[in-house]
Amino acid sequence: TADRLTFFTESVIREMTRVANRCDAINLSQGFPDADPPAEVLAAGKRAMAEGPHQYAVTWGAPRFREALVKKQRHWMGLDLNPDAHVVVTCGSTEAMMTAMMTACNPGDKVIIFSPYYENYGADTILSGARPIYVPLHPPEFNFDPGELRAAFMQGAKAIVLCNPSNPSGKVFSLEELETIADLAKEFDAFVITDEVYEHIVYPPHRHHYMAALPDMFDRTISCSSLSKTYNMTGWRLGYVIGPESVIAGARKVHDFLTVGAAAPLQEAAVTALELPLSYYERLTVDYTRKRDLFLGFLDEAGLTYTRPQGAYYVMVDCTEFGVTDDNAFCRWMARTVGVAAVPGSSFFHEPVDHLIRLHFSRSEEILAETGKRLKKLK
Ligand code: GLN
Repeated sequence: TADRLTFFTESVIREMTRVANRCDAINLSQGFPDADPPAEVLAAGKRAMAEGPHQYAVTWGAPRFREALVKKQRHWMGLDLNPDAHVVVTCGSTEAMMTAMMTACNPGDKVIIFSPYYENYGADTILSGARPIYVPLHPPEFNFDPGELRAAFMQGAKAIVLCNPSNPSGKVFSLEELETIADLAKEFDAFVITDEVYEHIVYPPHRHHYMAALPDMFDRTISCSSLSKTYNMTGWRLGYVIGPESVIAGARKVHDFLTVGAAAPLQEAAVTALELPLSYYERLTVDYTRKRDLFLGFLDEAGLTYTRPQGAYYVMVDCTEFGVTDDNAFCRWMARTVGVAAVPGSSFFHEPVDHLIRLHFSRSEEILAETGKRLKKLK
């Protein structure tokens, strides 16, 4: 088999879900919600299954989906996007990111990745032949050093990956931080490839700012996102790439040969999700803020040290006090003995970090409370 396969492993996140299932542990490893999509979206799904469409949609996305997406994003991104020129609908943001990377980079090009990072980005660079340059987000605050970032750009980066709100750190990049990144991207003529799947899961007073909407950034930003986390439909595998016309023309080609297209009946049903009123997003923020505060309260009661998430639904917990030197072994032990499955922090870091674990809290309040009880056993 190919040499490139030796440079990455199977996903540790998804492996931890299998461990959780084997141990019958509460699964706070792979981040997906336990709630269903909104009722009207489920009804639209039933209708689509009964009435179709059942054959391929237009490769770069069903027109109704693209139109609804553009309308929604006009509000949130503040951009007047053309559904026929600026959008490709993909099989989740996983495909969107792979497509973006393959569209932006030649083999051998360098791509800046903030570390810790969502594990797919490492594999995406390897599969597209690009070479990662890692820039640390320093725990516990997960801030970057502008000097370190400039040094990375100076190595000749073709693109930078920006996960905002950030998985796994929970960081929401401030407008000033985004401007620093944007200025460097312009100075060194690089693309910014964003992963914004948690764009609607942000805890006030933090706010999500879209890189593509910053002055003069649309033409060099390839925005990737998905419906998974916003509408509780991770299994529907619906994502998209938004970018300038020239980039999207390339992304359409890559996407066409990678997957042909996302599932047609699900695109049709998801139009209902994209057309939900603004109150839906307000409710989402309120609900997740409550879950976050509740869960952090349980971590406090269990005496754990963590970084307070500003967005997304993950929390990085510092396990130094438990004498952890092998976070993989610790997570497996914890799933078996404490009955809570987490993701070992080392799977997100380029640097040798072995004292952190990632827990997600997209679970019902009852399950979070039960998790709190179990975590007390750690002490
Ligand atoms: N983003 C989720 C996580 O980090 C998982 C997504 C996936 O497994 N495709 O846990």
